[in-house]
Amino acid sequence: MTDAEYEEVKGQLHQIINEWHPALGLGWWDISLEHVRDEGVFDGGDDEARRNPGCVARTQTQWEYLQATITFCMPRLHGRTYEDLEEIMLHELVHMFVGEMRDCMRCDCGVDKFDVKHEERVVTQLTKAFGSTRTHFEKPRANREAGPFEGGKDAA
Ligand SMILES: [Zn+2]
Repeated sequence: MTDAEYEEVKGQLHQIINEWHPALGLGWWDISLEHVRDEGVFDGGDDEARRNPGCVARTQTQWEYLQATITFCMPRLHGRTYEDLEEIMLHELVHMFVGEMRDCMRCDCGVDKFDVKHEERVVTQLTKAFGSTRTHFEKPRANREAGPFEGGKDAA
């Protein structure tokens, strides 16, 4: 990856987080971004990285202090569309909301039975939900998809 390619991806990531972190109400968080150019360094980071080869980004939180570090594997992000980068960033930001659940599960069981797939499924679902609100509310109200809502019955 050339310096120019690195700077291009980095600029896109910063543009995306500038837009999304206030939209998600994350202004109280202290968020650091790290950009790793060496895939070997990225993969050698921790157990989570080793369990998930080919991973493009990861988020570590000190949720009790509202601090997070998002680390990007820059060579793996190069060549992706802006929309892909946006989804990746959104996914990592959503990890900040649920990071404390991981620690709770770890300390409860004594043994590391934690399966990150549960967290990933929740994060993936929330990423799609947040992402779809953007396209939904970009449309004029009259053109938004709407369906009958069957709940909200009157109490007797
Ligand atoms: Zn994830």
